Amino acid sequence: MTSSSSSCYRDPPSIATGKTLLTHSVTQAAEALIAGKLVAFPTETVYGLGADATRDAAVAQVFAAKGRPRFNPLIVHVPSLEDAVALGEFSPEASELAKLFWPGPLTLVVPRRKGCPVSLLASAGMPSLAIRVPKHPLAQALLKAVRLPVVAPSANPSGRISPTTAAHVEAGLGSKVSVILDGGPSAIGLESTIVGFLDGRARLLRPGGLARAEIESALGHRLGVGGDAKKPSAPGQLESHYAPRARLRLNARGAKKGEAYLAFGAAYPDAAFNLSPAGDLTEAAANLFRLLHEIDATGVKAIAVAPIPGEGLGEAINDRLTRAAAPRSQVK
Ligand code: AMP
Ligand code: MG
Repeated sequence: MTSSSSSCYRDPPSIATGKTLLTHSVTQAAEALIAGKLVAFPTETVYGLGADATRDAAVAQVFAAKGRPRFNPLIVHVPSLEDAVALGEFSPEASELAKLFWPGPLTLVVPRRKGCPVSLLASAGMPSLAIRVPKHPLAQALLKAVRLPVVAPSANPSGRISPTTAAHVEAGLGSKVSVILDGGPSAIGLESTIVGFLDGRARLLRPGGLARAEIESALGHRLGVGGDAKKPSAPGQLESHYAPRARLRLNARGAKKGEAYLAFGAAYPDAAFNLSPAGDLTEAAANLFRLLHEIDATGVKAIAVAPIPGEGLGEAINDRLTRAAAPRSQVK
């Protein structure tokens, strides 16, 4: 069945009985993801807004579709632990939790592996990655078919309730997604529990669908606490980790001596670094973290950044730049 603006496949409640339709819809969803489009799909926690995690532009579309005012890091979904260890570095404890609770409602935050192909925008420029292996059969089928890591925050407009049915997704984001896979109501209906492994200690970063007690009993010890950016306990929560090494000067019309210039728009045809020569804010979002890293890699001490308009994804870009330009009192 199709709606006017998206293909919404209404599989019967029992997935086993919808085989033909299921195969067809998963194939279409996989093709859409590979083409860089957005696909909503069911997981056992909530419905996810999926995009190819390796493509900056596809990840930027996720933020644009949700209307998120900030680039918070996204969870990358893969079909198996084997796929996860290709992206991140798993400590013995992280592997233990993965083996016990995957597939399932547990997200593990681990250091990125060298050469990890996931877009830096997906992890908001951080050297860590949040990874999950979902259990829902349609999510599994899609991830296996697409053979790509898939970012998938909840498929709702920013600030609205997480969707637990395909109809919720269609009501909130129907015009923004290419395909909605219908796998019935989400069994858990709560986001995944997030455990971080970034400083040698397992820390609960977000409570969710898997109870803390279950994780602690598996580990044989208590989880550390995380989540306070003022008292950072995990590198992923340290504001300064969102920032490049170089100092930032914002709303700059040009570079002074010793500064690199990060341009935006057509007025700077010769700029070595331009967030979007076309002045497109979604393109600028897609390029933001990659270009900041590239400029940092030149060893320059300061970056002057062109003014960025505030509408659309400009709000999130300016939010991130403002934090990156803030005094570095939190830098260890
Ligand atoms: P969701 O909105 O359900 O996709 O969850 C995304 C959440 O995962 C973020 O708000 C963070 O709390 C957490 N997260 C994702 N990536 C990281 C990371 N690299 N480090 C720490 N937390 C992360
Ligand atoms: Mg959400």
